[in-house]
Amino acid sequence: MALKALDIYKLLPKKNCKECGDPTCLTFAMKLAGGKADVDLCPYLDDEAKSVLGATTRPPIRLVKVGVGERSFAVGEEFVLYRHEKTFYHPPGIIFKVLDTQTEEEIAAVVKRVRDESFTRVGTDLRFNGIAIENVSGSAELFAKAVGTVENNADLPPILMAKSTEALTAALVHCGSYRPLIHAATKENYKDMCALAKQHGCPLVIRSSSLDDLVSLAKDCNAGGVKNLVLDLAPASLRDFIIGSTTVRQLAITRAVPDLGYPVFLDTTVTGLEDAALTLGIVKYASVIVTNPLSPASTKAALTLRQNIYTDPQKPIQMNPGLYRIGSPGKDAPVLMTVNFSLTFFTLEGYLESSRIPCFMLIVDTEGLSVLTAVAAGKLSETLVRDSIKKFAVEEEVSHRKLIIPGYASPLSGRIEEATGWKVLVGPRDAAEIGEYLHEEWKQ
Ligand code: SF4
Repeated sequence: MALKALDIYKLLPKKNCKECGDPTCLTFAMKLAGGKADVDLCPYLDDEAKSVLGATTRPPIRLVKVGVGERSFAVGEEFVLYRHEKTFYHPPGIIFKVLDTQTEEEIAAVVKRVRDESFTRVGTDLRFNGIAIENVSGSAELFAKAVGTVENNADLPPILMAKSTEALTAALVHCGSYRPLIHAATKENYKDMCALAKQHGCPLVIRSSSLDDLVSLAKDCNAGGVKNLVLDLAPASLRDFIIGSTTVRQLAITRAVPDLGYPVFLDTTVTGLEDAALTLGIVKYASVIVTNPLSPASTKAALTLRQNIYTDPQKPIQMNPGLYRIGSPGKDAPVLMTVNFSLTFFTLEGYLESSRIPCFMLIVDTEGLSVLTAVAAGKLSETLVRDSIKKFAVEEEVSHRKLIIPGYASPLSGRIEEATGWKVLVGPRDAAEIGEYLHEEWKQ
């Protein structure tokens, strides 16, 4: 059972020395209670207190990092079963698979696709995360060569999928220092796999269709010094996967079986129903998902779904406040002010683009609230507009002093005029009418 902040505080040394990075022991205790800090940060805790606190305050699912550098990704550290209870924090890595029997050109083409392809949605660049190389040839030499080809073409997190430690040893020569994920340790080979993972400081997948076996493998690997684990439930069907991944999530977040508190791995390529498996994996707790390279349609669907599921439902999606250009606006172009609620931004942006009138969008920070809500909540005010005009140097961009505000912000028009000295024009309430409005009303 999780400890409350005050119970945790009682176990702390209460030196208030700030060495943990927190100003007081109490704030550190509050962080521990929320699973947002590690007991190891306090150097004055004795082993007994550490083990009591560690068991209850560490995130119920361990954070596991794969790869190094800009494209590395972290999975795990989740706290809830349902997204609406709080949020999901770490989106699954979607990994394209190549085989060591493919030609260099074929492998390089897949790697370059993962390296370069990106799809922008609601202001975020969505990308795939890495490359899994599978040793289907059975040859250590071919496997190492395929891994070398991947490494020569991009710095992407690698996943090494091989049964033989000889093949993995040969491949780790190319990427051992880039924190690849090794797949997979089983009851039969875990000692050798652990030795490799420990030697290179890599995370390790443990694989079994039995949860009891996974628990004992996790214990053995931990004892062998490998703590960054990922669970492959070896599902025989999609039904098996949902049952297994949901059970693991439940047992982990309730801390009923702490040894299952690791991210989950899913290889969709063996299911025969790849798109369905990918969808289920994103929705139902897979953290590392291996797939064959996706078609353009499946790419958009998968990346959009992942973005939607891993967006915090408690926070409106926000745009960065600033001055945005539609087309190539000149000094006489209209300036339209609106809020930083992303749906407002993208709706208005779409209508402005189709109006073909170059203009500026001045996006002010209403903490992601829509126009109507921001006006009602007092988040959209004349001072915010005045300060935003100054902050984003709007006066240097245009020669006029006219500001178009959203129809729903009309109650503020007089106050904005007074505060800014700009003439305020009240635009339509419906963004769909903005093109017609500009064509009729915008005159310099
Ligand atoms: Fe308190 Fe330990 Fe943090 Fe020092 S390091 S402030 S003793 S919790």
